[in-house]
Amino acid sequence: MLPHTDQLTFDIAIIGLGPVGATLANILGQYELSTIILERDPATYHLPRAVAFDDEVMRIFQSIELANEINAIVEVGAGAHFVDKNGKVLVNWARPQEVGPNGWFLNYRFHQPELEGILRKGLSRFSSVKTLLHREVCSLIEYEDGVDVEYKDLKTGKLDNIRAGFVIGCDGANSFTRNRIGRGFQDLGFHEPWLVVDVILKKHMPDLGPQSVHHCNPNRSATYVFLAGNRRRWEFRLKPEDDPIDISRPENVWSMLNQWIGPDDATLERAIVYTFHSSIAEQWLRGRLLIAGDAAHQTPPFMGQGMCSGIRDVFNLGWKLDRVFKGHASEDLLETYEIERKPHVKAFIDLTVKMGHLINTTASSLVSGTVSTAADEPQKLTQLRPTLGVGLSACRTEWTGQLFPQPRLQSGELLDDLVGRRSAILMRHEFLQQLPRQIIIKMEKLDIIAINDPATGIQEWFNNKDINAVLIRPDRYILGGARTVEEVDTLIKAF
Ligand SMILES: Cc1cc2nc3c(=O)[nH]c(=O)nc-3n(C[C@H](O)[C@H](O)[C@H](O)COP(=O)(O)OP(=O)(O)OC[C@H]3O[C@@H](n4cnc5c(N)ncnc54)[C@H](O)[C@@H]3O)c2cc1C
Repeated sequence: MLPHTDQLTFDIAIIGLGPVGATLANILGQYELSTIILERDPATYHLPRAVAFDDEVMRIFQSIELANEINAIVEVGAGAHFVDKNGKVLVNWARPQEVGPNGWFLNYRFHQPELEGILRKGLSRFSSVKTLLHREVCSLIEYEDGVDVEYKDLKTGKLDNIRAGFVIGCDGANSFTRNRIGRGFQDLGFHEPWLVVDVILKKHMPDLGPQSVHHCNPNRSATYVFLAGNRRRWEFRLKPEDDPIDISRPENVWSMLNQWIGPDDATLERAIVYTFHSSIAEQWLRGRLLIAGDAAHQTPPFMGQGMCSGIRDVFNLGWKLDRVFKGHASEDLLETYEIERKPHVKAFIDLTVKMGHLINTTASSLVSGTVSTAADEPQKLTQLRPTLGVGLSACRTEWTGQLFPQPRLQSGELLDDLVGRRSAILMRHEFLQQLPRQIIIKMEKLDIIAINDPATGIQEWFNNKDINAVLIRPDRYILGGARTVEEVDTLIKAF
């Protein structure tokens, strides 16, 4: 069916302007794809859920050219300890206080409404992106060449509709889009109600410490979280006999907090019970409907990875949508989105679930396998860097599907700032001289940049690897590697 003559049409409709939808809209804006965002709420939610993100996510903010603004509102995270009820450290998850391989610190603390404010303000840069707030999507009808999206203006009650080539549901845990796709969830085994308490300190309380602390206790596990500025958070696992409303009353909250702080030290910002879930949607795309973020997966917050995974989803998806709309790839390319992202996010959820069980039982062996252990010392947890599922690849190597690091180039510029939204072939310094002119021309035509910068970070990456060049995609993941000029040609052709 063709759109009505007066119906507005867009390349993409995004449902939901949470952090994931807002990041996607910035990505699509950069690609100049015509995009409409429909968001049910009239304004950004004024309280945070997410409080931490990692270096890869900061790299994504860098690529949407908002890292400077975001860097100004964050604090570098100091890591986390898992302790038993006697204070013995069972697991040490340290975050070094220096810049890591992605060109950013490993962990940042932030206030979610401020971050979302920056992401939303970023959209004003793009005339191709239109935002409609206070509109609830209530119907999606798919046609061969597009989707009719019907929505209700929640101020006037009036129904309206638009047509979009694809609909991306960034519509959260109760996703309408996921329901339309029509498949259920894979249950990953962790579903627990926790009381989340946010406070604003009235005075400087350095004794609380900059590190988050997970108090592992089968009786009542609790977590202290250092947020940005003077905000702090505590989370308490509910016991079966706890009533969620009763436990959230200020007098009960203060009695749970009293071993750390009291009303003279801080004001309560909120106390609310969330049920933490671990699950992955069985199907992330069907025809012209796709989902990302909490719509596609839910992660308990112990690793601070739910939002991060959603932001990775849309960075994986954005450049693929661009290639499809610009005619450089068929719609089949979008199939690789779910294939690549699902195992990646599952690795984070699986580790988070193990952490949740550790917090509830004190059994630190539950997280073994991802930790490095020394006798009589706390286990040490290192940053998880999963590989993408096997989707796109050419000249596949053991590094295919891994995130390429972001060193500074000899000029002092960060790698991604030079690469921009392009793909890049990075190579050993001496290898570029061997590439025939016609290959260089082919790369230029395909907007692939060749980089043989002598910066140590790049050259060191090739140490002990039997390849001379590697192709990285616009989302900075490795497509494949090449030993010879012929293999470089194959990589380029495949791309
Ligand atoms: C206590 C807690 C702590 C957390 N800490 C962290 C952390 O430190 N780090 C981290 O990475 N993650 C953390 N998370 C997870 C993180 O908050 C979520 O993963 C993230 O907010 C999901 O973002 P989203 O954009 O996918 O969905 P949401 O933020 O839920 O946004 C979905 C949007 O879609 C809109 N919407 C829904 N249906 C419709 C419709 N039909 N029409 C129009 N609009 C619609 C909603 O109004 C909403 O604005 C935490 C979660 C909790 C609960």
